[in-house]
Amino acid sequence: TERLETRDPEIAAAMRGELGRQRDEIELIASENIVSAAVMEAQGGVMTNKYAEGYPGRRYYGGCDWVDVAENLAIERACKLFGVAYANVQPNSGSQANQGVFTALLQPGDTILGMSLDAGGHLTHGAKPNQSGKWFNAIQYGVRQQDNLIDYDQIAQLATEHQPKMIIAGGSAIPRIIDFAKMREIADSVGAYLLVDMAHFAGLVATGLYPSPFPHAHVATTTTHKTLRGPRGGMILTDDESLAKKLNSAIFPGIQGGPLMHVIAAKAVAFGEALRPEFKDYQASVIRNAQALSDQLIKGGLDTVTHGTDTHVVLVDLRPKGVKGNATEKALGRAHITCNKNGVPFDPEKPTVTSGIRLGSPAGTTRGFGEPEFRQIADWIIEVVDGLAENGEDGNEAVESKVRAEVEALCARFPIYPAL
Ligand code: PLP
Repeated sequence: TERLETRDPEIAAAMRGELGRQRDEIELIASENIVSAAVMEAQGGVMTNKYAEGYPGRRYYGGCDWVDVAENLAIERACKLFGVAYANVQPNSGSQANQGVFTALLQPGDTILGMSLDAGGHLTHGAKPNQSGKWFNAIQYGVRQQDNLIDYDQIAQLATEHQPKMIIAGGSAIPRIIDFAKMREIADSVGAYLLVDMAHFAGLVATGLYPSPFPHAHVATTTTHKTLRGPRGGMILTDDESLAKKLNSAIFPGIQGGPLMHVIAAKAVAFGEALRPEFKDYQASVIRNAQALSDQLIKGGLDTVTHGTDTHVVLVDLRPKGVKGNATEKALGRAHITCNKNGVPFDPEKPTVTSGIRLGSPAGTTRGFGEPEFRQIADWIIEVVDGLAENGEDGNEAVESKVRAEVEALCARFPIYPAL
């Protein structure tokens, strides 16, 4: 019965600090969001105590009646959201969802074709330091120099040359819509599986604001915590029964043991929220807000990769102002605007420096920011960046503290977690 506050004051203080940070600072990290109190309640609940190796109705432990209810609801709701017949809601993360798909459909040494990290892909799509790049013969595609759009001709040519067993579409910094039909056509031309990793834009897909990977993808993976606004975790979807069986055994017993039942319960809650009509309004605002942010940044003299966005992501090219991604991330942090440095395609800078920052609208939109607020945020970013351009890495201290105060005032108008 002892509360966290007295049982562990150090962790309690860190959690209070983090709550304060989330309340008082603007979160622009494109892969983050702010879950509902109901999602947090489920995730912080009693299902954390339960071992439930196996799948609903087929467990290796007793006492699974109630966790079966939670997992069945999560599966049903996921299938309804994405219009598919099979969902595995057990992957502990997006990375493990991908690892599960590889375990199900590939052998070590097989060739895979995914988007390179510096063009916008994810580590798990065959990057050298990742298991996917070490255990497979990973070939990487990129974007076109002239417009930074995915180079489908290059994908087709690499596919013909290397005969991959799997082609992966999706990534972490792709502002425009991916042509899944074209990707499937290329996959079919060489007999490859098409995996769509929709981790970033799954919330947009769930609401029909981004084309569905299905029927084109053999399999799709996603995280549940980005635009989808659920707890941290992963999921695998397919419409193909024979693949579903392989995918299930790849997750358990292939790469995971006991599923995180408290997280699965929270996934069910989040999917239930995503099935409500207001979630579509939310996702439509996410896109409009990202477009307003991009437009206002361009008006202020910065550029954004592909000069706009169809999604929640805005990849800012800082080169017109002559500043670097690492210094900009730090300066915006001092002004209480959180984002991450990110390479732009063909970036001349090292990944630890970069010429860009990646921004996203999901978290701000959840707390109620609309287009005027996102345009205001763009103006603040321009002010801080101009401070860096004039004064070097230390930036303009007066501007940064003025912006910090204004950020705090804005956040106070859009409170989060009032009951905490
Ligand atoms: N796939 C994509 C496209 C991602 O952006 C991410 C998250 O960064 C992942 C997979 C991995 O998810 P996680 O961080 O949950 O392992």
